Amino acid sequence: MSIPDASAKATNQHALPSYLNSERPGPWGIYLQQVDRVTPYLGSLSRWVETLKRPKRALIVDVPIELDNGTMAHFEGYRVQHNTSRGPGKGGVRFHQDVTLSEVMALSAWMSVKNAVVNLPFGGAKGGIRVDPKTLSRGELERLTRRYTSEIGIIIGPTKDIPAPDVNTNEQIMAWMMDTYSMNEGATASGVVTGKPIALGGSLGRREATGRGVYTVGQEAAQHLGIDIAKTKIAVQGFGNVGGIAAKLFAQAGATVVAVQDHGGTVYKASGLDVLALLSHVSEYGSVLGYENAEILPDAQFWGVDCDILIPAALEQQITAENAHQIQARMVIEGANGPTTPEADDILHERGILVVPDVIANAGGVTVSYFEWVQDFSSFFWSEDEINARLVRIMREAFAAIWQVADEHRVSLRTATFIVACSRILQARELRGLYP
Ligand code: NAD
Repeated sequence: MSIPDASAKATNQHALPSYLNSERPGPWGIYLQQVDRVTPYLGSLSRWVETLKRPKRALIVDVPIELDNGTMAHFEGYRVQHNTSRGPGKGGVRFHQDVTLSEVMALSAWMSVKNAVVNLPFGGAKGGIRVDPKTLSRGELERLTRRYTSEIGIIIGPTKDIPAPDVNTNEQIMAWMMDTYSMNEGATASGVVTGKPIALGGSLGRREATGRGVYTVGQEAAQHLGIDIAKTKIAVQGFGNVGGIAAKLFAQAGATVVAVQDHGGTVYKASGLDVLALLSHVSEYGSVLGYENAEILPDAQFWGVDCDILIPAALEQQITAENAHQIQARMVIEGANGPTTPEADDILHERGILVVPDVIANAGGVTVSYFEWVQDFSSFFWSEDEINARLVRIMREAFAAIWQVADEHRVSLRTATFIVACSRILQARELRGLYP
């Protein structure tokens, strides 16, 4: 049976609306360029590629709240479901003063890619509110979260779209979201969000999951390059949930963590930092600043540090055309989302430095979120050992699939990741067919 090529015809007749245009700068434009780059590798599935260039659904909501001083304030909120061909939407909620619809659209699309790469039965979604949460009291934050949840309640749900924490949102905010949705539904719906407190159906192992995933793909990549982890020198930018845990696991495997940079500064020790001591210093003082058993480096020197593995695990756009030439590492494992600019990516590729892209490297978090959702559905909770073992297996399988595609097509791991993910999404799209 031949499947009618409806999307191709529709595309030719209707150009992308201006707000979806790839020439617009910013994250959505970058995402569209990534899709264009992999389209030639998608074979006959490429006729469905337009579906990746348009979010399935984008909801803009007004979130009015009463402030503690009795006045009203309005905030703009979003929930975007980029693609649900492989399952319900899944992706975090960000509270930040710079959140825009374009950013949320791109983040939702990257969630489609991430979920498909690790083969989770989820599509991609993301949400956000344009607000600086530091300016709100706890009561205002709770009212904001509850009203936002209620407004997006028409499109989220345990089998429709499952939010999670992202920048400036945490377990408490997930608890308020779960409670609000449950109150509106008249039944406790613990599976509506992940990243909840353990007492409300959260999962063991979630906190460490992203760092553990970074470490696991690092191990796999090292093996392919013939590098013995125990003999490596590691530099980590960002020493929080992702970078701190990854550094701890690499150190436990015998690696020498030579440099750590956070928002406070950069510490360096050629013979190896004591990662556990540094972690307890950070939990006491909030930053690596003031840690005594190390040299302090000017921040810009971090990128040129003599190391084998570099792990950016802080912010976007840290490895740029300006510092990519200084990098000494043999591989970069992207713990953060979007830490490497496209220009820097090309420079690293030309210099033969392997980049393990964010959409696979930091997928450990959403993988354990998936475990949380599964446990909530069955109301049966797994041990931490079981969770870690399943996480490691999924990350290894995903990495092996990507490596094979990169090898076959002689492309970067980033392009290979997009080939694997986009093929899976479009295969589901094709099998489901076009409704009506
Ligand atoms: P976190 O808040 O726990 O830690 C962030 C770290 O970055 C801190 O050590 C902070 O000091 C450092 N930092 C902030 N500004 C900096 C600067 N200007 N220079 C150097 N360091 C700076 O955050 P996290 O959860 O570890 O997230 C880090 C990155 O990983 C983000 O890009 C996030 O989107 C991504 N990520 C996180 C998860 C997760 O499960 N936590 C999952 C996927 C992706």
